[in-house]
Amino acid sequence: MIDFEIPAETKAIRAKVREFVQQVCIPAEATCTAENFDSVLVQLREQARGQGLWCPFIPEAHGGMGLKPLANALVQMELGESFLGALSLNTQGPDDATMLTLLEHGTELQKEKFLAPLLEGEKRICYSMTEKAAGADATGMQTTAVLDGDNWVLNGEKWFSSSASVADIAVVMAKTDPDAPRHEQYSTFIVELPNPGYQIVRNIETMQPHSDLGLKLGGSHSEIKIENLVVPRENLLGGQGQGFNMGQHRLAYGRLRHGMHNVAIAQRALDLAAGHVVERETFGKRLADRQGVRWMLADCAAEIYKARLMLLHIAYKAERGEDLRQENGIAKVFLAHMVHQVVDTALQLHGALGYSHDTPLARWYVGIRSQRLVDGPDEVHRWRTGANVIKAFEKYGTTASACGGELL
Ligand SMILES: Cc1cc2nc3c(=O)[nH]c(=O)nc-3n(C[C@H](O)[C@H](O)[C@H](O)COP(=O)(O)OP(=O)(O)OC[C@H]3O[C@@H](n4cnc5c(N)ncnc54)[C@H](O)[C@@H]3O)c2cc1C
Repeated sequence: MIDFEIPAETKAIRAKVREFVQQVCIPAEATCTAENFDSVLVQLREQARGQGLWCPFIPEAHGGMGLKPLANALVQMELGESFLGALSLNTQGPDDATMLTLLEHGTELQKEKFLAPLLEGEKRICYSMTEKAAGADATGMQTTAVLDGDNWVLNGEKWFSSSASVADIAVVMAKTDPDAPRHEQYSTFIVELPNPGYQIVRNIETMQPHSDLGLKLGGSHSEIKIENLVVPRENLLGGQGQGFNMGQHRLAYGRLRHGMHNVAIAQRALDLAAGHVVERETFGKRLADRQGVRWMLADCAAEIYKARLMLLHIAYKAERGEDLRQENGIAKVFLAHMVHQVVDTALQLHGALGYSHDTPLARWYVGIRSQRLVDGPDEVHRWRTGANVIKAFEKYGTTASACGGELL
């Protein structure tokens, strides 16, 4: 039997988060500026914490809500509707995935010194893995770390480190063991910022138009020069040569969170589209009464439905501790395209209004293009997914286990 019932307690949490996002975060968007952002965020966080909404998937012992994967997925699918949603509950990327890494791999000292202030919302953290030299194939990273007495000394460069300009801590990957097997050559270091050895060369101008508020939100992507960066030995995270494994663990959650927020964005975009087509008339009829328009809405609804089911199935597997790499890879690619299709359709139905900044659609449209690149580009995930399809066929004579696992 497949049970689609969501526990009452989980439904109640989702409803509470939904109300907070709809009644508090979305209205706050209209008046939030770069100048008042800090005080807006303080107020939102106070309100959220007052309602017990804080760090959804972090264990209660560490001050979070202790939600399991299903409840967290449902909550994240609400938070993503507002750019202030995840921030208000201190579960924004890239901090969230790095919190998980510190929780799982940090020493007691690292947890106390670095994780605790992150969980309190006092500090922010960024993740510096990608280099100009290597992205999709991160094993090509050139930054080195050499042990010198009680310190590691790092040299190299990083590129597209999101939120570096607002971060108090950076997690940096560097090559420590050039002669080890490929995936054991790298280690991860915790770097306190500002630091003369970790210099932001520039915040890279991207497709997303520059905005001072965007910078405050942590939306910058920085190019970093790493020059004689001295890192105390105790700031090595998770053991020498473990950087790659930990990076993959961290990225796995990041991919899912992006997907959950994509569902939220798509849902709000379709709501906006529906709200528009029931009001707008052309050629003597409401847009909502045109068959062609209904087909467009129907296609979006189908995409969002598939997206939700994928995430719920992945959450189900995660709760049971099952291997979800194949499903995660499939969903990562699907969800990035799904949100593009839905936002594009909503924008189209809004006409010139959709192209303006009077709705969030134009901002989303530009922002979500990155979803097909971040945390591994489409092609790399599809390459791995395809390889698993072949593996399944060779092993079982059918590809079914690579297409939703135990669903058959
Ligand atoms: C908005 C944004 C935020 C980011 N934030 C961070 C961050 O916070 N920290 C961080 O470390 N990195 C970050 N990144 C970097 C991101 O992880 C990399 O861009 C991504 O891994 C791809 O690497 P690359 O850009 O070097 O592309 P490349 O590795 O050069 O690949 C280029 C293209 O080649 C194709 N390709 C690559 N490999 C294959 C293959 N095996 N088969 C077929 N085609 C292939 C794909 O189309 C790919 O897009 C961010 C990127 C963006 C755009």
